[in-house]
Parts: sequence; structure tokens; C-alpha cells
Amino acid sequence: MTTSATDYDTIILGAGAAGLAAGLYTTRAMLKTLIIEQLGPGGQLLITDEIENYPGFPRGREGPGTGDDDGAADHAVVHTDDRTLTAKSLIIATGGSHNKLGASGEDEFSGRGVSYCAVCDGNFFRGQDVVVVGGGDAAMDEGHYLTGIVNSVTYIHRRDELRATKVLQERAFNNDKVKFLWSHVVEEFVGNEALEAARVKNLKTEEIYDYNTAAAFIYVGFHPNTEYLKGLVEMDALGHVYTDIHMRTGVPGLYACGDARADSTRQLGAAVGDGITAALTAYHDLQE
Ligand SMILES: Cc1cc2nc3c(=O)[nH]c(=O)nc-3n(C[C@H](O)[C@H](O)[C@H](O)COP(=O)(O)OP(=O)(O)OC[C@H]3O[C@@H](n4cnc5c(N)ncnc54)[C@H](O)[C@@H]3O)c2cc1C
Repeated sequence: MTTSATDYDTIILGAGAAGLAAGLYTTRAMLKTLIIEQLGPGGQLLITDEIENYPGFPRGREGPGTGDDDGAADHAVVHTDDRTLTAKSLIIATGGSHNKLGASGEDEFSGRGVSYCAVCDGNFFRGQDVVVVGGGDAAMDEGHYLTGIVNSVTYIHRRDELRATKVLQERAFNNDKVKFLWSHVVEEFVGNEALEAARVKNLKTEEIYDYNTAAAFIYVGFHPNTEYLKGLVEMDALGHVYTDIHMRTGVPGLYACGDARADSTRQLGAAVGDGITAALTAYHDLQE
């Protein structure tokens, strides 16, 4: 336990599932806690239609509803935009954000047909034909959500098989509204005022052509939000923070949990469990 006076016992960065779970446990342990969140509480849940695999909720749960910092000798110092705060321990729970595809026109048509959030933007394309780029769980989940709103969903996938969980694959294959462009990549987004087509390339034939669509929903992976930790803590090549099973990083008093940490399964239940573990470990360490 540290001896110098600090503003808080623990500061938690991020109010997604992991950060909120950690906060619940640190406050119940009577640790003076501050959660710092750059947007609002919820994290990725805010852009998720439905969580079907959270234990205890057999009918699923709807998604929405459910600074910089540095290390000092004996406490953490967090610089936000307008103040400097100190704490005896710091829990990193800043999760991850979607990857961009990197196709030309992607930024130009963002908000005018190109979207990363089916739940937020799906309704704008009611009854129309849309594409989903990607072949993992998020693409399948959110594409399924879209089939309840739009006329058709075409998955554009660079491989000729999906990475997604089998049950999600089967659901897509059995849905009449779903089509696939296998072994295709998007080269460019084209249109005038709004998106009109995805210029795609068939990787097997090299053919390039315009595939008409009102919208493109992009789900091509995530990156951890840990840029601000570079040089402070050990991370893998993608920027996930290494921890032990107790969520301790190599820096005393610094913990990481949820999607931001290496070896996370990137699931809601795991993020909650990580957050609880991080909080209880921080509490335990502060008692010593
Ligand atoms: C489309 C989609 C569908 C999904 N479906 C499922 C599913 O069906 N089942 C399942 O189990 N999981 C699912 N997941 C994954 C699950 O939502 C995540 O594993 C979980 O929400 C991660 O929680 P987290 O708290 O670690 O991170 P996040 O939810 O990413 O929260 C991190 C928080 O930190 C904030 N933040 C970031 N940087 C900073 C900073 N510098 N300062 C302050 N705050 C910051 C962010 O704004 C955010 O609020 C899905 C995810 C997506 C995107």
C-alpha cells in the first residue's frame, strides 16, 4: 500500500462492461473510486443490437442499456484534458474500437452510407439493399439485426469461408434475405451525395465491378484503445496490455481488464469477470 496522499484509492479508465464491473466492486470495497469515460457509460454495448450469450439471460439482452496517464513511484497520475488526478491504483478498461477498412471513399461517405454501427444507422436504410463487410461474429450479429429492417444484406468477405461462430453462420445461411460475395474485397466506395455502390474486386478472377448498395456496414476487427499507454506498460504487437491472471500488469498498482488486455476472449461475460478480478486484486494489493 502506498503512503503518499492521493485524490483517489483507484481510478478506472473506461466505463464499458469491464470498467463498470470494476467500479461496482471497488466501491463495494469502500475504495474511493473515480471512473473516467470519454463518451458515456456502456462502451461497445452501445453499438450492439443484442447479446445472446450472456449467462443468466436465456432470451438475450439488448446491447444499449445493459486521458492520458503515467506511472509515478508509488501512485498513478492521470492527466485529463483539464486536470491532473492521482490515485493509489489505476485500472485500465478502455476496451477497443472498430477498425477502418482502408478503402478509398470510406471517410468521404462515412455518415452518408458508410457505417460502423447497424444499431445506430440501420433504420435509415429500411427496405433497401445493403452490404456488410466482414465475416466474423460482429458482422454476422449485426447483419442479422439488419435483416429485420432492410430488403437484403450482402456480406462481402475476402475469404471463401466465414470466421464467425457456427451457430451465427447457420443463421445467416438459412436467411433468404442474405447473400454472399465470397473472396471479394471492397476497393472503393462510390456515389454522389450519398453512397451508391461498393466497387468490389473478385480476388479469384481479378474482376472489378460496382455492386449497388444503399449502405455499407463495416465489421473488420477491432484495435485496443491503449495508445496512451505506449512506453508505460508491456503490450503485444496490436497494443493489448499484458496481465497475469489477476489482471496485474508489470507496473505495480496498474491493472488492465476487458478487451484492452492481451488474451481477452473479447466477450461481454469475460469483460465483466476481468473487471471484477481487477477490482478485487487492486483492493487486495492496497491492503498489503
Ligand atoms: C457489434 C458488436 C457485437 C458484439 N456482440 C457480442 C455478443 O453477442 N456477446 C458477447 O459476449 N460480446 C459481444 N461483443 C463484445 C462485447 O461487447 C465486448 O467484449 C465488451 O463490451 C468489452 O467491454 P470493455 O469494457 O472491455 O470495453 P468497451 O466496451 O470497449 O469499453 C471501453 C470504454 O472505454 C472508453 N474509453 C476508451 N478510451 C478512453 C480514454 N482514453 N479515456 C476514457 N475512456 C476511454 C470507451 O469510450 C468505452 O466506453 C460485441 C461487440 C460488438 C462491437
